Amino acid sequence: MKYLLLLLLSCTLAAEVQKPNLIVIMADDLGYADVGFNGSKHIATPHLDALAASGVVCTNAYTTYSVCGPSRAGFMVGRYQQRFGFERNPKYDVNDPLAGVPLDEMTIAESLSQVGYKCGVIGKWHLGAHEQFHPLRRGFDEFYGHLGGGHKYFPSDIGNKTDLEAKSEPESYVTLINRNYQQEKTEKYLTHEFSDEAIQFVEKNKSEPFFLFLSYNAPHGPLQAPQEYIDRFKQIKNIKRRTYAAMVSAMDDGVGRLMHKIEELNLKEKTLIFFLSDNGGPENKNFSYNGDLRGAKSSPYEGGFRVPFLVSLPGSLPSGVKYPEAVSSLDIFATINALSQSPTKNKLDGVNLLPYLNKTNAKAPHKSIYLRKFDQGAYVIRQGDFKLVIPGRGKEMELYNLENDISEKHDIAQKHPETVQYLKKALDQWDSELIDPVFKGLKVHK
Ligand code: CA
Repeated sequence: MKYLLLLLLSCTLAAEVQKPNLIVIMADDLGYADVGFNGSKHIATPHLDALAASGVVCTNAYTTYSVCGPSRAGFMVGRYQQRFGFERNPKYDVNDPLAGVPLDEMTIAESLSQVGYKCGVIGKWHLGAHEQFHPLRRGFDEFYGHLGGGHKYFPSDIGNKTDLEAKSEPESYVTLINRNYQQEKTEKYLTHEFSDEAIQFVEKNKSEPFFLFLSYNAPHGPLQAPQEYIDRFKQIKNIKRRTYAAMVSAMDDGVGRLMHKIEELNLKEKTLIFFLSDNGGPENKNFSYNGDLRGAKSSPYEGGFRVPFLVSLPGSLPSGVKYPEAVSSLDIFATINALSQSPTKNKLDGVNLLPYLNKTNAKAPHKSIYLRKFDQGAYVIRQGDFKLVIPGRGKEMELYNLENDISEKHDIAQKHPETVQYLKKALDQWDSELIDPVFKGLKVHK
């Protein structure tokens, strides 16, 4: 009888999480160690920390690339973007029909909208500026944001050009903001605008399943923040670092206001929330901090693509715990796909994280985590604690044991030639499934 009751209870729980809302909050160029839940002593992020405390912090979470565009493409399609040639940051060009997520790949929004989800993206797109790649043509019902890789923050920075009229990367940073093809001026600091829009989106769609991609361009450069936020960090002497901290804090406040709305609408147990950065912090550019991790944005070392990452679904996932096995931004699509039974097209590379985070499956979610940077000839494969790195074309292979060498200081390739060969073989197998980049990027690295 007791077991029957347990079984019934677990069935009820399972039934409750079907078709949960999905909110993905993505920060841009946020340092691994710049959130309280990853131990930041410099920047208080109380709202993100509260969200982390309501769920699981994944300490070994990777994106699929160490710069913005390709990482976002991998997340949006749930597949390694090297499979479809999105391997460079797109250069802003409304006439380029190649620089975007190919139309024969299915986005999360295209998948979820087929099972009744309302889908909205607020903030940075960066998945193609050509009209065929516009969010409203890629499964989203609503878009408020900018199509390019970054944007200035203050209303006084925004010019009169539409995003169609922007002819260069710098021009794309000062366009009007696109609201479902309409072009608008802003009234507030851009991070506040995006937070307000996210709250309105949730309020409007509270009665049906929704997918909100809240894609803050913060704390990506340019370093700009309201004075009252800069004043919160008087203890930080470097003005650039202080401004960066202020940008993170403004985003954190926005997350807090959004969570308040979720609670007010009683949606907490019906809403699967992820927070992550799209790549590691570019420490020399936006004064972010990746802590003990080696390297920064663009690097194949941990600081390039191991990111702050949390998952929350109260009632269905544990709370206040850390999960140390390697997970991927690819798992976001696979998780919501399992819960919503939405149709997919091409095979997803991620896994449903719930059984792993619930500890009903004690295995590691991924046998391997991969990275390829075509232009540099850089590669990574991680299996368990071993990480093989090829730092660039023609460079020697390096092997690290991340369990006792998180900073990748001690290359142990010479000591473990069999492991190097084994990992290289697995890496070559994955590489053989990939294609060359299909468009020229912002910067072609030699
Ligand atoms: Ca980025």
